[in-house]
Amino acid sequence: MKKKAKIAALSAAGLLAAGNAVKAAMYKPKKAECPALPDENVNLDRYVVTICEAIRCKTVSNTDESLVEWDEFEKLHKLFKKKYPLLHKTLKMRKVGKAGLIYVWQGTDPSLKPIALIGHQDVVPVPEEMLGDWTHPPFEGEIADGYIWGRGAIDMKNHLVGVLESIETLLEEGFVPKRTVIVCLGYNEELVDTELASAPMLSKALEDDGIKLESVLDEGGAILELDVPHVIKNKVAGVGIAEKGYCDFEISVDAVGGHSSTPPKHSAVGELSKAILDLENHQFRAKVTKEMKMIIDTIARNTTYPVKLIGCNLATVLPAFTPALAKIPPVASVMRTTTAVTMTHGSPQANVMPQKATATVNFRILPGNTIEDVEKHIRRVIRNKKVNIKLLGGNDPSVVSPIDTPTMDAISKICSGLYDMSAPAPFVVMGATDARHYQNLTDQIYRFSPFVMPPEILMLAHGTDERISVDCLENGILFFKRYIRMMAGE
Ligand SMILES: [Zn+2]
Repeated sequence: MKKKAKIAALSAAGLLAAGNAVKAAMYKPKKAECPALPDENVNLDRYVVTICEAIRCKTVSNTDESLVEWDEFEKLHKLFKKKYPLLHKTLKMRKVGKAGLIYVWQGTDPSLKPIALIGHQDVVPVPEEMLGDWTHPPFEGEIADGYIWGRGAIDMKNHLVGVLESIETLLEEGFVPKRTVIVCLGYNEELVDTELASAPMLSKALEDDGIKLESVLDEGGAILELDVPHVIKNKVAGVGIAEKGYCDFEISVDAVGGHSSTPPKHSAVGELSKAILDLENHQFRAKVTKEMKMIIDTIARNTTYPVKLIGCNLATVLPAFTPALAKIPPVASVMRTTTAVTMTHGSPQANVMPQKATATVNFRILPGNTIEDVEKHIRRVIRNKKVNIKLLGGNDPSVVSPIDTPTMDAISKICSGLYDMSAPAPFVVMGATDARHYQNLTDQIYRFSPFVMPPEILMLAHGTDERISVDCLENGILFFKRYIRMMAGE
């Protein structure tokens, strides 16, 4: 390279680096302006004790309803009545299905659409063989080392008791909502794909009353406390604005069967395994979605300076790394409709050729795809005409809720006020929640539990030693109270 050209190239690189440094310096967390909010009363002792007592109610859901201990749900309802007398005096309560509850807090202005705060009372079981692994028994609701321990501590007795606790306190202060506030509590959210699901019953009951909702707030997101030395030490809130769909397909091959001493070249299992490989080798296309960019941008803005140099360009350059990212399973699950072959079945005995070989394939569908797209994909990928393809069941992804709404604005402002943190990042929830069953009543559905959790605690949902830090509870109540004031107040 000639000297002049070299100098030009070096100065261009220098300018670029300087430009990048300026960009990184300007790359700050986006904050929502929070209006001055009144101090709130919080009866933390009552809240903590009620969560502990709620954990002692073994409200475990089961696909076989005859095996559900319904008296435990009764016990939980009695607990609510005992702890929250004003709520039960003021709000209209009714039971739906086996143990569903709808509370209606009538607002003074009937022209305003109600807001709904929803949740589930049920918890997942603790397998007998895992009981010994718990530091504190899962259904005792013990407080130790600054935590409330037990099944449901973070999923989601903390949240639903928090909603009721907040309403009771608002009532004690004489708050009268302008907009009606509805609380819906289901009883079998933890079951996958059950016809007896309580959430559709609850939303249908509201629909039958001619109710349309302003918005729904459910679990699904949280305030993550990220602490990676030299990279990030900040809180980032994620609000689920959509959830992936779910479907199961059975793929099968029929054959003549017979004695294994005279096998054909390919058995039904052999034919089927080729089809399974075809599916695994031809995944849905991965992409960096809008929601993925938004959450990466929010996290990157909260990183420390040298990391920001990369962070400020990350959302833009990320699509170029799509193939590499798609090789990391947890990341890929955010980027595509996933294919998981989960169950196979062949011959019932070692010396018998299978007359039928089957595989169950589970797909988690990204918003933008549908069950119909999944079926087309399977038929395109599996060329073997001997393979039968049957849909076993499932549901399409939820609608994607808009982010420019008063509800999202309220969540954002309250979080900024409570934690001096950046505006929450919208994201797509990987699992299923009850929220999608309320799409008949509104398209503004947000999945967010206002509790600060380090990732390692969040990972304990459904696991051993599920627990919640007592420290994060007060701000949970402050959030709910302010949310109701902001959305339903004057
Ligand atoms: Zn849950």
